[in-house]
Amino acid sequence: MTAKNLSILGSTGSIGVQSLETARKCGYSVSALSAYSNVDIIEKQIREFHPKVAALADENAAKDLKLRVADTDTKVLSGLSGVCECAAEPTADTVINAVVGIAGLRPTLTAIDCGKKIALANKETLVAGGQLVTGTAREKGVDILPVDSEHSAIFQCLQGAPSNRALKKIILTASGGPFFGKTRDELKNVTVADALKHPNWSMGQKITVDSATMMNKGLELIEAVWLFSVAPSKIEILVHRESIIHSMVEYDDNAVIAQLGLPDMKIPIQYALTYPERIESLTGELDLAKLTTLTFYKPDHDTFRCMDVCRDAITRGGLYPAFANSANEQANLMFRRGEIGFLDIGELTERVMNEAPKVQSYTADDIDDADRCARELVIKYAKKR
Ligand code: NAD
Ligand code: MG
Repeated sequence: MTAKNLSILGSTGSIGVQSLETARKCGYSVSALSAYSNVDIIEKQIREFHPKVAALADENAAKDLKLRVADTDTKVLSGLSGVCECAAEPTADTVINAVVGIAGLRPTLTAIDCGKKIALANKETLVAGGQLVTGTAREKGVDILPVDSEHSAIFQCLQGAPSNRALKKIILTASGGPFFGKTRDELKNVTVADALKHPNWSMGQKITVDSATMMNKGLELIEAVWLFSVAPSKIEILVHRESIIHSMVEYDDNAVIAQLGLPDMKIPIQYALTYPERIESLTGELDLAKLTTLTFYKPDHDTFRCMDVCRDAITRGGLYPAFANSANEQANLMFRRGEIGFLDIGELTERVMNEAPKVQSYTADDIDDADRCARELVIKYAKKR
C-alpha cells in the first residue's frame, strides 16, 4: 500500500524537510507536523501543507505559533503530549519520525499503539528502547520501515530472502566521517567546526558530530540488531569513503548483495513511503563510470572507540544501550557547546555506559530514568576533568 496521509515529527529538521519535499513530489497529504521550537519554518510548512494539527515541544514557541496561524484551520498543540497527539492523529496512516534523540521514543510508542505504519529515521529510539519498541510493534502488527540509509539498504538487500537462516552477515558501510585516517593525538584539539564538515552528507548537527566520532555507526549497529533480528556478532562495519554502497548482506553461499545510489536521503525516505512499490525519484541517477573507483577500509577501532562501546552495550543488553545513547547525547551536546573536547565524547560515553544497572527487560519509564541518570553522570564526570 502506498502512504497517502503523513504525520511528520521533526518536520523542521534535515530529514523532516526532505520528507516534505517527498510528500510534495508524490502528492501525499500531510495531517500532522511537529518540531521543537522553529516557529518560522513550521509556520511556512503549515501554510503550504494545511495539516489538521501541529505541535511544538517548546511551550513558548507553541504559544507564538498559535497566534501566527490563528487564521488557518490547523490546531496548535504544545509539549511532549502535543507531539504524541501528532503521532496519534487519526487521519494519518503513516508516521515519519524524524525527531533527533531519545525525545522520539514516546511519540514512536504512541504511533505503535495507534497502529500507524512507521517510517523511522529516529535511530535513538531503537538504540535505547529496541526491545520495547520492536516487541510492542510485533504485538500490534505494526511495520517499522527504516529511513536510515544503511538500514534501508539492508532492508532492500533482504527482499526475497525467505528467512534470516541463510544470512551470514550484514556489512554496514561507514563513510569514516571528516576525521578518517587521523590518530587520537591529532583529534585532541579538533574544533566543533572541524567535526561539522561531513564529506558526503548534509545532516543535523547531532548526527554530524556522531559521524565524526563514529558513534553514529555504533548506534546503527544496534539499530540493525533490532530491525533485522540479528546477533551483533553478525554485523561487520566497513569503511567506504564514497557513500555509494549504502550497505550489503552476505549469505551462506558467499553471495554478497549490495544497494547503491547517490548519497541522498530522499531515496530511502521515498522507499519507506512507497514500499513495496518503487516510483520515480527526485534525486539524480548514479553514474558509476564517472566515479571510476569505490574504496574500502577496515575501521580504526583504536581511534574511534565508540563503535566498540556500542557493540559491547548491545551484547550486554538491557539498559546498557540506553545508557550509551543518552551519555552520548549529553556529551555530544556539551562538545557542541564548547564545554568538553572531542575525545571526551567517547571517553565519557564509555565510562557511563559501564555504569548501567543490570536488568533483563525494561519499560518506557525505565528508559526515561536511564536517560536522566546517564546525563547526570556525564555532567558529573565532565566537571572532574
Ligand atoms: P535535525 O536536528 O536536523 O532535526 C531534528 C528535528 O527534531 C527538528 O525538527 C527538531 O525541531 C525536532 N526536535 C528536536 N528535539 C525535539 C523534541 N524534544 N521534541 C520534539 N521534536 C524535537 O536532525 P536530522 O539530521 O534531521 O535527524 C533526525 C533523526 O534522523 C536523527 O535520529 C538522525 O540520527 C536520523 N538520521 C538523519 C539523517 C540525515 O541525513 N539527517 C540520516 C539518517 C538518520
Ligand atoms: Mg545512516
